[in-house]
Amino acid sequence: MSNQNFRSILTGSFSTPCADNPTVAMIEAAYRHAGIDARYINCDVKAGNLAAAVRGAVAMEWVGFNCSLPHKVAVIEYLDELAEAARIIGAVNCVAIRDGRLVGNNTDGKGFLASLREVIDPAGKKVFLLGAGGAARAIAVELGLAGVAHITVVNRDPAKAGTIAALVRDNTKSDATARPWVGNARVPEGTDIVINATSVGLGDADTMVEVDLDTLAKGQVVADVIPNPPMTRFLREARQRGCTPLDGLGMLVNQGVIGVELWLGRTLDAGVMKQTLRDIFGASDA
Ligand code: NDP
Repeated sequence: MSNQNFRSILTGSFSTPCADNPTVAMIEAAYRHAGIDARYINCDVKAGNLAAAVRGAVAMEWVGFNCSLPHKVAVIEYLDELAEAARIIGAVNCVAIRDGRLVGNNTDGKGFLASLREVIDPAGKKVFLLGAGGAARAIAVELGLAGVAHITVVNRDPAKAGTIAALVRDNTKSDATARPWVGNARVPEGTDIVINATSVGLGDADTMVEVDLDTLAKGQVVADVIPNPPMTRFLREARQRGCTPLDGLGMLVNQGVIGVELWLGRTLDAGVMKQTLRDIFGASDA
């Protein structure tokens, strides 16, 4: 008998559509770099098949999986436990399976926070958050848990902004208020961190979020969740005004790092992941 091991550790993702999700390339490059015999299988799982997919992952002894649209809320009913942030956010995008038990996490906001901490400690800071979708919700909750002083949530649909502000106030020690987004949003004086958490700029390097650029202040951190192209027009304009730009690649990469830590207890090389995404997106810093 050979004592070689032909059985790989299994991880992956359940979403639909899934063909344009580059996470598989990023994570498998980092597995190879670390010499870990693990696979990340990008699965197209339709809404009606989620329960079967989760049962399949358990049956095949996967160690965990990501879930993206449209499963982030629906998956919760199949889980045994939720981590704190996932419970507050009400959405799960990363499930760890240990001894048949499924634990739901949300790495969207944690990935952003890890990226943000490379340039600023958010504790005690004032944040101006554009958008109130799933990404904004996860980011706001994590910023609250990280102890920011105040978050102003701005959205075209003000009711969604109000829901997120209330979520932060009710579940964290941070204060938060909501504002409707009318015309060019003006960043309040004293803001430390400005975040575009809308989908504006995705796949279009020339589109700009409607922000009054003259209200940006030198030294502010200006972050964008858009991973492709990473250097959005908003970030380029902010950099020209002396702000510190933070692109959405770091958020995506750190989500991968955090997910694999939850599944395997191993920390993958973020640099390998980032370079893989840059190659895929054909990204430069321009
Ligand atoms: P949602 O659809 O849940 O939310 C979209 C948000 O964008 C809403 O607040 C919406 O406002 C706002 N919006 C859309 N178009 C405009 C516009 N023209 N002007 C002003 N606001 C606008 O999406 P998600 O929150 O899930 O994702 C948002 C972006 O974040 C996506 O582009 C995605 O690629 C990116 N993302 C990046 C990640 C990363 O790791 N880098 C991870 C997750 C997401 P309204 O409610 O008024 O319609």
